[in-house]
Amino acid sequence: MAENQKLKIAIQKSGRLAEGSTELLRRCGIRFNNGHGKLKSEAADFPLEIYFLRDDDIPNHVADGVADIGIVGENVLAESPREEVDVIEKLGFGRCRLSLAVPKGFAYSSLHDLDGKRIATSYPGVLGEFLASNGINAEIHEISGSVEIAPSIGLADAVCDLVSSGSTLFSNGLREVETVMQSQAVLIARPRLNDEVNSILEKLLFRIRSVMAARQNKYILLNAPEEKAAEIAAILPGMRSPTMMPLADAGWVSIHSVIEEHDFWEVVDSLKRAGAEGILVLSIDQMIR
Ligand code: ATP
Ligand code: MG
Repeated sequence: MAENQKLKIAIQKSGRLAEGSTELLRRCGIRFNNGHGKLKSEAADFPLEIYFLRDDDIPNHVADGVADIGIVGENVLAESPREEVDVIEKLGFGRCRLSLAVPKGFAYSSLHDLDGKRIATSYPGVLGEFLASNGINAEIHEISGSVEIAPSIGLADAVCDLVSSGSTLFSNGLREVETVMQSQAVLIARPRLNDEVNSILEKLLFRIRSVMAARQNKYILLNAPEEKAAEIAAILPGMRSPTMMPLADAGWVSIHSVIEEHDFWEVVDSLKRAGAEGILVLSIDQMIR
């Protein structure tokens, strides 16, 4: 690999994806200085240059080759799709949804109640397509920020905005009525990177996938009486099969395994019913498959 080749990644400078993006790179063992006001930084121990940008600019800069890859919300990509950009991995953070919401007093029963109404949004493209595909004829008012206040100042009858907990809508007297799209952060890339840069990307992707697999799994340790060990081991598949070690107390074993986070509580309940004791659950930093 040529010494001077680097992979260039664009991430959000500040905002809701900034921390998740920095944290993901850090977990991949990549350290860099993102001090205040910096536009660009070089990783200390990986051939990576990091550009700090506004999220809206990331797809364009990747498409135009300013950066090779980037981290951006699916919602931003959907609003201004670029053919020159591929989505290569969903990253599992920055989850939110683009939703329609109406003032509490609005008698809403179906999308048809929005026919002929004015809807404020920063996502005219995505909303326009959604309305058209549902046969709704509404007037879209594009505004760039603080969409949630549009109804109270008489600018719109409804809004279409990003929501995660819903508390911003609630505190503005709005009620979420339809989901237009789900979104999360994704890794995007320019197709046809040169071989050297592409092999750096492969290396980074391997690390990202290990970090993501680790996030979806937990390491579990527990004690069990020997006669229950087989039944408990059957509940815990592990990466290959669970580890079993004798305890200093005769007749007892310690069992270690990896379990998936999504069915974590059900597994713990079955383990307790089967006689497991002293259950410890640890998070995993990386998981190499
Ligand atoms: P920038 O200054 O970079 O243009 P921004 O104000 O456009 O930032 P943010 O509010 O920081 O953007 O949101 C960035 C992304 O975070 C959104 O595009 C979306 O993908 C994601 N996101 C996750 N949860 C939410 C939420 N509750 N509200 C808004 N965006 C969210
Ligand atoms: Mg933005």
